[in-house]
Amino acid sequence: MTAEILCVGTELLMGQVLNTNAQFISRRLAALGITQHYQQVVGDNDERLEQAYRLALSRSDVVITSGGLGPTVDDITKRIAAKVAGKSLVFFPEAEKMIEERFSQFHRKMTPNNQNQAMFTEDTTLLVNRHGTAPGAIVPMGAGKVVIHLPGPPIELEPMFRESVEPYLAKQSGKVLLSRYFRIFGMGESEVDSKLQDLEKNGNPSLSPYCSLGEVQLRATACANTEKEARDMLDPVEKEVRTRLGNVIYAVRDDDGGSLAVSCIESLMKYKKTIATAESLTGGLISATLVEVPGASNVVKGGFVTYQTVAKTMLLGVPEQTIEEHNVVSAEVARRMAEGAREKLKVDIAVSATGLAGPGGGTPDRPVGTVFLGISTSKETKAVELHLSGDRARIRQLTVKYALDCVRKQIEAENA
Ligand code: ATP
Ligand code: MG
Repeated sequence: MTAEILCVGTELLMGQVLNTNAQFISRRLAALGITQHYQQVVGDNDERLEQAYRLALSRSDVVITSGGLGPTVDDITKRIAAKVAGKSLVFFPEAEKMIEERFSQFHRKMTPNNQNQAMFTEDTTLLVNRHGTAPGAIVPMGAGKVVIHLPGPPIELEPMFRESVEPYLAKQSGKVLLSRYFRIFGMGESEVDSKLQDLEKNGNPSLSPYCSLGEVQLRATACANTEKEARDMLDPVEKEVRTRLGNVIYAVRDDDGGSLAVSCIESLMKYKKTIATAESLTGGLISATLVEVPGASNVVKGGFVTYQTVAKTMLLGVPEQTIEEHNVVSAEVARRMAEGAREKLKVDIAVSATGLAGPGGGTPDRPVGTVFLGISTSKETKAVELHLSGDRARIRQLTVKYALDCVRKQIEAENA
């Protein structure tokens, strides 16, 4: 199978934009073992684009286009491909739905010309665009040849290529693509990236990190002739990634599922330990997050929502004096809350959280985002101080993640 890249956009010919898409796609094709003999760049011009398509299809099996999927009149890529295929563009309701979803996610209003982005030839396979509005497309051109349309902005094109195009191309060329997912908490995406940069020398296995609230997920993907071969390529990469990143990795899986809560529940089950929670600013969210995991009933005994001071005293036995002396948002109170929960519910480990989620209530020495977690086991009771940023919802969600991360680390440290 041979592929050819066709980049569309006058800005590329004028030198206003560096053609990084061609470099990115070329590297990925090489990693997949797909041959490329030619590349083209063409401006936003109907006749010249048509010629470029005809030439590419005469000598390559797969033609991958970049750019010109937007809603404006100069976005001609799909229309000319349809013309070359001798087909017309029809309206795809699924595509319109994808576009609408993206608009509502970005809090933007759809304009009538966005409808153009939902027009494809009838036998097209749509590709999800997680970072922009224009869906990508795999378009059969007859005689076993296909055109694959990708959006111009690299932030849209690159994930679409990795997530949708690579599996398609691997399948077409009889290769196996196998991924392994590393879930990471407590290290930012750029640090993860800088620690692993050199591991991706030949692009196979490829490593791609992406982040979500406080977490990074790293995907390692190997392309090989057999599943075993792919696995043998991934094993040393996994070993090296574990050595370099250490215990910020909380799970390594064959699928992109999992969460801190799942890892906590798995550790608790593995070592047959029970847990209780004592929550102030999170108001039960730590407990609720744990209970979301099937099987939680084996290990989660219960929890206390102690929002006002009086509840901390009455339900957890935190002495009023401790609260007055140290402040309710303090390491000492967090420790006492965790201890109280552990003793009252007779569990192996208890976790507590007290802090300021804002927006009001901050002081110069305790600004909004100051949070103390407590962890108590029969071996020790300790507190962790956090300084989180963001709005109330983000601070509470991050507190939950840090609390779960503390739990899993404590269990591993005491039992592994
Ligand atoms: P949009 O919906 O944003 O218009 P599009 O799919 O129509 O996307 P273009 O309009 O062709 O894409 O390009 C949008 C932007 O993407 C360009 O201004 C440029 O910054 C970037 N871009 C386009 N092609 C490339 C390329 N080959 N390499 C790197 N960046 C590119
Ligand atoms: Mg455009």
